[in-house]
Amino acid sequence: MPIWGVVNQKGGVGKTTTSVNLAAGLAQKGHRTLLIDCDPQGNATTGLGIDKAKADATLYEVFADAVDNPDSPTAIHAAICNVRPNLDLLPATLDLAGAEPILLNAVGKELILRDALSPVVGNYDWIILDAPPSLGLLTINILSAADAVLVPMQCEFYALEGLSQLLKTIDIVKRRINPKIHVAKVLLTMYDPRNRLTQQVTDEVRSYFGDKVARTVIPRNVRLSESPSFGEAAVQRFPTSKGAEAYMAFIEEVAPTCVAL
Ligand code: ATP
Ligand code: MG
Repeated sequence: MPIWGVVNQKGGVGKTTTSVNLAAGLAQKGHRTLLIDCDPQGNATTGLGIDKAKADATLYEVFADAVDNPDSPTAIHAAICNVRPNLDLLPATLDLAGAEPILLNAVGKELILRDALSPVVGNYDWIILDAPPSLGLLTINILSAADAVLVPMQCEFYALEGLSQLLKTIDIVKRRINPKIHVAKVLLTMYDPRNRLTQQVTDEVRSYFGDKVARTVIPRNVRLSESPSFGEAAVQRFPTSKGAEAYMAFIEEVAPTCVAL
């Protein structure tokens, strides 16, 4: 049962679009899936049509409860909501920005998310964690709770900048906290073959990561950017769009191997 963190500290590279479509696509294919919004921006929450104002409890309460009740954290049960068949969401709101100060004073501050998730991990075939654009304590908690990382990369000039910092962080977490953590896949997003730089950046990323780079690339596609306004993943709302088809092809590429692990 894979737990994947969708991580890249660069902003706007397609983490949330990937998390939402990956989770919704896996659910569509019959995998029991939990998407956890770990970003105070709450974009994955909005993107799945959950009204933040109405959410009973969110990831913030889950963190607070896990810090207060280390023996038996239970808030996660109330915070998880069902979105569609096979698809559950643990929402986030701006409140989550207040989690870091709480975590800072907790013993084992990097492992709070892992502990908070433990009561529900067995209920799912896949858990997807949508990371914020930083390498702060929330992301360290993701890297400590996940068993693999999916790195979305936008094919642009600065794509590789900051990458060594990300890999170094993964490496430190692997050595000190979570021996399982590794990069499962790198996914090229907003791929535009007409852009001169795209091929050059693609070649660089492939020579760096080899076959960790997914064969599937996600094209720049307006349906992917429109679907959050409908509160649905593109794989749901616009299943025949190029973007949705690409995400389903990516799922074909990763789901059989990983479920078998
Ligand atoms: P942040 O770092 O702020 O969390 P992010 O990495 O989660 O950002 P997204 O929110 O997924 O990135 O994407 C950034 C913007 O680009 C959004 O407006 C999204 O709709 C759009 N976008 C993402 N992928 C594509 C794509 N393949 N084609 C067109 N637009 C896209
Ligand atoms: Mg995001």
